[in-house]
Amino acid sequence: MSFLLPAGKARLQRVTEFYKFHTTVDVLRLDALHPVVSGNKWFKLQPYLQQAQQEGRDTLLSFGGAYSNHLLALAAAARLSGIKSIGLVRGERPAILSPTLEGALAEGMTLQFLTREQYRNKDGSALPPGLADHALVIPEGGYGPTGARGAAGILRQVEGQDYTHILAAVGTGTTMAGLVLAAGEAQVIGIPVLRNAGTIRQEINALLPAPLHERFRLFHDYHFGGYARLTPELTAFMNQWYEQTGIPSDFVYTGKAFYALNDLVARAVIGPGSRVLVIHTGGLQGNRSLPKGTLIFG
Ligand SMILES: *Cc1c(COP(=O)(O)O)cnc(C)c1O
Repeated sequence: MSFLLPAGKARLQRVTEFYKFHTTVDVLRLDALHPVVSGNKWFKLQPYLQQAQQEGRDTLLSFGGAYSNHLLALAAAARLSGIKSIGLVRGERPAILSPTLEGALAEGMTLQFLTREQYRNKDGSALPPGLADHALVIPEGGYGPTGARGAAGILRQVEGQDYTHILAAVGTGTTMAGLVLAAGEAQVIGIPVLRNAGTIRQEINALLPAPLHERFRLFHDYHFGGYARLTPELTAFMNQWYEQTGIPSDFVYTGKAFYALNDLVARAVIGPGSRVLVIHTGGLQGNRSLPKGTLIFG
């Protein structure tokens, strides 16, 4: 098995717009590692792939919705590693597959659609017998200590740099936990993209050793109505951010994180003199589900 991260390092892009607040902001462009695969997902999947190799598994199996960056990344990672992948998808099979699921199929993933009930129970009994006998089952979104260990590798991309703050969007919290594991003295800031993400704090802590519990801050006011919700204000911001910086963002995760960054710096919650690293976690493929012309970038 030869699964490797794309060669080289992700680009670090300075956003000079924040100089007027006496703040330096660098964006780690994990989105630029691969055209479809979400940046942080590569890192989260690494140790799962190593585990599959060690245990002699020939298949990766995981779960997600019709627009899941995780399933698509897993499909691509499995193909590059020369092993099979199975995606258990929430909900009935639609007449027209989402671009994400089409992409996963193109990567060779076997898709099986589960009813909401089956999905809640992570019930794969509808799978053809024998198909998943030698599969490594990866939790939804790659959540777990294994995924967090992989996500910690993100900060190896910026070794030697000295940041006061590290900011990223939060879904399952696995990436956040990985950043906390590797952040040292820098303050880690998470922007949950789910509304009422009431248990996310405990879910992140559960992936951390006790001394690192609570070594992060979450700001819950930037979900724009909830998961995958898009408002005209967010669309306008994403377009304006692209015009100013040349950085494309996705409407589920990174658009909200960049919006929060702007607001937190403008309000001096992230104060003058700060040196901020923002993780561009990728996810741009998800924008393909938007009506054409919503965003000024592709
Ligand atoms: C999955 C994803 C996240 C969230 O990562 P978690 O580890 O689940 O918190 C953030 N940004 C993008 C683009 C993603 O695809």
